[in-house]
Amino acid sequence: MAEAGLDVLLISAGTDLRYLTGYEGMRTERLVCLVLPVLAEPFLVVPRLEEPGAVASGVPVEVVAWDETDDPYALVARRVTAKRAGVDNHMWAEQVLAFRAAMPSAGQELAGTVLSELRMRKTPQEADSLRAAGAAIDRVHASMGDWLRAGRTESEVARDIADAIVRAGHSRADFVIVAAGPNGSSPHHEVSGRVIQPGEPVVVDIGGTMPDGYRSDCTRTYSVGEPPAAFLAYYEVLLRAQRAQTGAVRPGLTAAGLDAIGREIITEAGYGAYFVHRTGHGIGLDTHEEPYIVSNSGRELEPGMAFSVEPGIYLPGEHGARIEDIVLCAQSGGERLNLTQREVRILE
Ligand code: ZN
Ligand code: ZN
Repeated sequence: MAEAGLDVLLISAGTDLRYLTGYEGMRTERLVCLVLPVLAEPFLVVPRLEEPGAVASGVPVEVVAWDETDDPYALVARRVTAKRAGVDNHMWAEQVLAFRAAMPSAGQELAGTVLSELRMRKTPQEADSLRAAGAAIDRVHASMGDWLRAGRTESEVARDIADAIVRAGHSRADFVIVAAGPNGSSPHHEVSGRVIQPGEPVVVDIGGTMPDGYRSDCTRTYSVGEPPAAFLAYYEVLLRAQRAQTGAVRPGLTAAGLDAIGREIITEAGYGAYFVHRTGHGIGLDTHEEPYIVSNSGRELEPGMAFSVEPGIYLPGEHGARIEDIVLCAQSGGERLNLTQREVRILE
């Protein structure tokens, strides 16, 4: 904070708050906010009805409760003087503007300039949490043959997968993408009532939150019966690209460099126009966080960084494929946290 020139951080309910205190709080219109001055003791402002939960969670700072008719922004303004305040990147706009009105002399910047520098470098304990999340989502992919069959709708399959994500040890399923046939050519298709047809490739991208807050995210592409030859031709290219990228992870390689390794293989094979998104995103207490693995990022990879490597090829109107692993960067190279087979799995 001192280096960034910030006098105070204002961290509202969410994953930054969980990262700093172990308490996530409830994201509602009622203000929950960790006030973290650079030179004074921090305190947590919570609505009176959240006070027992905050205290029980063992937050390591003073808890200041406000009553329904109090103005929590004025309460913060009375206790803190600041010229520059770092505001939680995910604070709701109505709360940001209320702070601006209550603390008119405090210029607002993103707290993320401080927080993401910490969060993107995982501690050994956080790395273990991500390993456990990776193993849990791997167990779901390993059982995909139990649910993914021709004649069922994407939605039916997705409901079974969501239940399995929880059975595998997550506290909740965050997203389930089941994209069959032409739907697979839309990278963020979710699910629909479409009945899966024999011979269709199906992109399955799933993730959840573990009880300790860390997230999983893994994509595998399946085929229900023998897939079209055109699909197998580009799947082989995609697999080669994803393997090259996961194998290349090491400290000092830039995010742009890692993106280019896969993009060049896919482009040389003639599919460059069909790889329409970045290679990946960091993961931790959020599914998408720094560092982003994108072609305009000069950010160098460092030990402790964890991110997805998920190239895809999408043929508009026909089908698509994506292969996604979470990779942890270590001094010696990349450690894949998802280990189910990457070759296309043909389910009957
Ligand atoms: Zn994913
Ligand atoms: Zn992802």
